[in-house]
Amino acid sequence: MENTARIGIVGGGITGLTAAYELAGRGYEVTVYEGASTLGGLASGFRVDPWEWPLERFYHHLFASDRDVIALAREIGVPVFFRRPTTAIYHHGRSYPFDTPLRVLRFPHLSLIEKLRMGLVIAYLRWLGRDWRRFERERAHEWLMRWMGERAYRTVWEPLLVGKFGDEYQDINLAWFWARVFKRSPALGYFEGGFQAFIDRLADRASERGALIRRSTSVKQVQPAGDVFEVVAQGAQERFNVVISTVSPRRMAEMVPVLPEPYRGKLTSLRSLGAVVMTVALDRPLTEGLYWINLPKQEGLPFLALVEHTNYIEPSHYGGQHLVYLGDYLPPEHRYFQMSQDELVDLFLPALERFNPAFDRSWVQGVWLHRAAYAQPIVPVRYSERIPPIATPIPGLYFASMSQVYPWDRGINYAVRLGRDVARMIDEDIRMGRVRDIDAWRTAPRPPVGMAP
Ligand SMILES: Cc1cc2nc3c(=O)[nH]c(=O)nc-3n(C[C@H](O)[C@H](O)[C@H](O)COP(=O)(O)OP(=O)(O)OC[C@H]3O[C@@H](n4cnc5c(N)ncnc54)[C@H](O)[C@@H]3O)c2cc1C
Repeated sequence: MENTARIGIVGGGITGLTAAYELAGRGYEVTVYEGASTLGGLASGFRVDPWEWPLERFYHHLFASDRDVIALAREIGVPVFFRRPTTAIYHHGRSYPFDTPLRVLRFPHLSLIEKLRMGLVIAYLRWLGRDWRRFERERAHEWLMRWMGERAYRTVWEPLLVGKFGDEYQDINLAWFWARVFKRSPALGYFEGGFQAFIDRLADRASERGALIRRSTSVKQVQPAGDVFEVVAQGAQERFNVVISTVSPRRMAEMVPVLPEPYRGKLTSLRSLGAVVMTVALDRPLTEGLYWINLPKQEGLPFLALVEHTNYIEPSHYGGQHLVYLGDYLPPEHRYFQMSQDELVDLFLPALERFNPAFDRSWVQGVWLHRAAYAQPIVPVRYSERIPPIATPIPGLYFASMSQVYPWDRGINYAVRLGRDVARMIDEDIRMGRVRDIDAWRTAPRPPVGMAP
């Protein structure tokens, strides 16, 4: 198939790479700009010599329900395998495995009645609540407290909300919570070779189809110029018929100064959190076989998630070392974004004794710190009304980012779906001649075409 439009994509994360793969496959001339030296954005990994597999900068796994990414992995030939690691909750200084009905029943800090009530509420949400739109008018915090009972909510679910949304957790709507319990599976998936193996293969396949991928090339501005767009990047200025941006809403508003209201207002009103994650390599395991522990804020720990990756994936892929992630979602102005790695190490490492009293600093073989300013969109009530459409008011300019993934919790499955959706939409718009008259937006803005969530 021969298609002549030139398409520029800002961002070489999963959304941008999937869109590149799809559009190059439809015969378009595609260029991807990625500001970082590695591809993959939040899902990217880092290599440590002589480890066999790279490790994600931020802990990652798939759910069995992540059909879009599993199908794409199969299509491009990257094996996915599933395991059932143990997840736990932390209560009054102890971790309790909490991922099977039996383990829930054995949990000593809730009565049988409280547990049954909690189970009924979750069952109601999972099986009767497919019409998620009615849930988005409720705040998860208030609704769960009311129906589940305060103790069960505060012990089990509030830490999940706080761990994800920090001080903003009381604003999160129930549709997000519903989607989270609806999609979650006890079996968790991982790519053979890590998430970077999937990313690299996707980039290779897009390149084989003719896409040009420019790493270490940050885009400064996207400017409509006549019937094309000028993309101004480090050391390059190129023209495209169509541009897709996959960056944060705030960055998008800065990058395209001519974006009209009310679209610009929608972008700048969206709120999000960043992520700070420390990876620690140890010469022995930290916990007794636990993969994921949610940490309630009131326990006074300096991070809100502890993920022992090598209780899920064998240490043999990482030179026999045991890898623990210590993470938190925080506003980008939080002091953790300014503190040095050494300062954070001094703050975080003493807390490991709470998970293993024998822990000693001599166990530590390596530490890596990763931070991202845009990592988790905040989804308050009626969020669906706030989402900016993928097609911006400027014909030929598209915005596809994590903030439009809803009600599902953002994740690489939805980045794949979004990349495919925007590619399909562009192909259709080009065929219908809707992206040619770029100048027309100044006088008669086209009605926005929304993303069907
Ligand atoms: C702590 C943490 C844990 C997570 N765990 C999971 C998990 O277990 N499972 C899961 O499925 N998902 C998980 N996710 C979410 C997942 O990583 C994201 O949903 C997904 O990677 C988003 O992809 P994206 O391409 O939309 O955005 P991004 O990954 O943010 O990609 C955007 C890209 O744009 C680039 N960019 C930005 N500005 C510019 C510019 N001006 N010029 C050029 N390039 C630019 C960035 O460098 C980046 O590569 C997690 C995320 C975090 C932070």
